[in-house]
Amino acid sequence: MSAKTQHHKLVILGSGTAGLTAAIYAARANLNPVVVSGREAGGQLMITTDVENYPGFPEGIKGPEMMDLLKAQAARFDTEFYTGDAIDADLSQRPFKLTLENKDTLTCDSLIISTGASARWLGMDSEKEYSGRGVSACATCDGFFFRGQDVAVVGGGDTALEEALYLANICKSVTLIHRRDEFRGSKIMQTRAVEHEKISIFWETVVEEVVGNHLDGMTSLKVRNVKTDKVTEHPLTGLFIAIGHTPNTNLFKDQLDLDENGYLKVTPGTTYTSVEGVFASGDVQDHVYRQAVTAAGTGCMAAIDAERWLSEQTG
Ligand code: NDP
Repeated sequence: MSAKTQHHKLVILGSGTAGLTAAIYAARANLNPVVVSGREAGGQLMITTDVENYPGFPEGIKGPEMMDLLKAQAARFDTEFYTGDAIDADLSQRPFKLTLENKDTLTCDSLIISTGASARWLGMDSEKEYSGRGVSACATCDGFFFRGQDVAVVGGGDTALEEALYLANICKSVTLIHRRDEFRGSKIMQTRAVEHEKISIFWETVVEEVVGNHLDGMTSLKVRNVKTDKVTEHPLTGLFIAIGHTPNTNLFKDQLDLDENGYLKVTPGTTYTSVEGVFASGDVQDHVYRQAVTAAGTGCMAAIDAERWLSEQTG
């Protein structure tokens, strides 16, 4: 089949909480939005088991179930969906031009980028095996499930230090595991973590294996000291991976202003990017809060900003 070109008033890249919330608002404003779902369709919540902190769900909800509901809500108002990723974007002139994986082209008057940030993982098989059953990439999301337990955090940046401090308020003990002999995170956070009575630190240490079983999930952690090569096993029931996130901004590198970590820059208090008509919402422009509810909030803002901007163009 030959490639097609279609024009739309608004295209939304990404189908996580931010993208789908933008779609709900834009569709109800009669913008007939198109959502390009992306390779990690549904976003970070697809790898989250229980969501207990999203307002309105007193009993909690499974991450994938919540994304199904958001998608159904967007579809109810006639949002169109494309599966797969955009592989190229030309934002140098309007209409903007996007090339999809199947080589179809979408042109659009306005664009909302909600492509998220992917959590970095250590890359071990056992990490994957116990994901959601001991292994997590978000202390704010999952810490509560580990109250009173002994857990570990891996990483040495601000995220790891912040997660260790957050977990120290909930858990019995926190072991911070870092591959070097000094932290990368800010001095103030380092001092707080080092001085915290519930936090102990394994310096120059890497994770070797998450150990567990089907019934209990993770039961212990094997680590290796990189100087001595000695492997030790510790009875821990949670492992929080905090080795950074990669914002999904590759397509926009030379076209939109990014901060030093590669996140999209927006005008504070808005979702405006450095190119008129292009808006950003969710984790792709937020390395601080990274919550489903804040992503939904900025998704709503992006749709309102796009709608107002589009109506200004047509007068
Ligand atoms: P960073 O990139 O700053 O830190 C990642 C950490 O993970 C580093 O210590 C790194 O080790 C370690 N690491 C990376 N890959 C591996 C691996 N494969 N195995 C073991 N360890 C690994 O990411 P953060 O998410 O911590 O922070 C990102 C940005 O967000 C920073 O600018 C940070 O300051 C900011 N931030 C600010 C916050 C705030 O202001 N409240 C809160 C959270 C983040 P090494 O040091 O050896 O490279």
